Amino acid sequence: MHELSLAQGLIDQLLALADKHQAEKITKVTVIVGPFSGIVTDSFSFGFDALKQEQNPTKESVLVLETPPPEYTCLQCGNCFTSPAGQVQKPRPFSSTLPCPDCGGAHCTAKGGDELILKQLEME
Ligand SMILES: [Zn+2]
Repeated sequence: MHELSLAQGLIDQLLALADKHQAEKITKVTVIVGPFSGIVTDSFSFGFDALKQEQNPTKESVLVLETPPPEYTCLQCGNCFTSPAGQVQKPRPFSSTLPCPDCGGAHCTAKGGDELILKQLEME
């Protein structure tokens, strides 16, 4: 359960932030889940909803997950493009599996996208 430990990590982070800002409760959390993170968002939400019950500040927190499409950069012409839907796979450097839509070049690199970022926090 990789997602559960990540959800726990997020809760810990939220509790620390609530404490720091002397907030009584966190109402809304927006997290960006990188397309290459391998995180199953359903499991992550499920884990978060289960764990948040144990802490007062996070009890009523609504979790919003944003999953931007994966981005690639063509090494031949520098064009940036996003992967077609459903094709979320991190190509090896110099992979030929994803041709550039601009020049047809076969050499593309994946641009970031394997992170979990706490984007926004609303608290009271
Ligand atoms: Zn290109």
